[in-house]
Amino acid sequence: MARRKLVAGNWKMHGLEADLGEVAAIAAAAKSAECDVALCLPATLIDRATRAVKGFAIGAQDVHQADKGAHTGCISVDMLFDAGASLTIVGHSERREAQGESDSDVKAKADAAIAKGLDVILCVGESWEVREGGQAIPTVKTQLAASLPNEVSFPGFISEELSVAYEPIWAIGTGKVPSIQDIEEMHAALRTVLVETYGAEEGDEVCILYGGSVKASNAAEIFAVPDVNGALVGGASLKSADSLPIVAAAG
Ligand code: PEP
Repeated sequence: MARRKLVAGNWKMHGLEADLGEVAAIAAAAKSAECDVALCLPATLIDRATRAVKGFAIGAQDVHQADKGAHTGCISVDMLFDAGASLTIVGHSERREAQGESDSDVKAKADAAIAKGLDVILCVGESWEVREGGQAIPTVKTQLAASLPNEVSFPGFISEELSVAYEPIWAIGTGKVPSIQDIEEMHAALRTVLVETYGAEEGDEVCILYGGSVKASNAAEIFAVPDVNGALVGGASLKSADSLPIVAAAG
């Protein structure tokens, strides 16, 4: 199905008040963009960014599955709404690896967010060892099936309530990108998991984003791949000069 693409930026642990001008520039361009645009900011900037830039999708990079309680350093869905966020990333490989988050942790986070109407970008992806061993597709399919929230409903604040981001770990921040054929095969495989999980109609509506070293020079080629419904962009989302050509390529 032809759907509006989503270009979401992941600022990771970058961004101070002085960088809100970049958020404003990206949000201003998003108004006339032919794709949906969102920025997942450090938690410390969400409130200020949503006050400064009304009507633009600002998200978080993680959320805790519990409503409240003794979870030092964690942030709940209600807290993200309170700060003005409308979406969150869950399951980014940097959290799966550094914080030891399992598929069931990621699923619990996605379930908690979706249950309250916070849109989710759920990340999956294989290591280089898995890719080299020829196990990328079965590994990532298993990871996705075990991480997906139980239920989704449409539409959400961004393109759809749930988006999936295929992010090969070895492509994140490295300048390396899988071949177009590898991206196409993986996205088709992930679509089958979505259809098996949610049924033909809803499974087809979920956006599958590609993430990993997307930049102005490769975005158009990646967006032309069947079942690539947008991108999750790290490094190139920090500056409007780098990210706006990617947004334009998605139109
Ligand atoms: C990411 O971390 O989600 C990402 C895709 O990073 P980069 O675009 O820098 O590879």
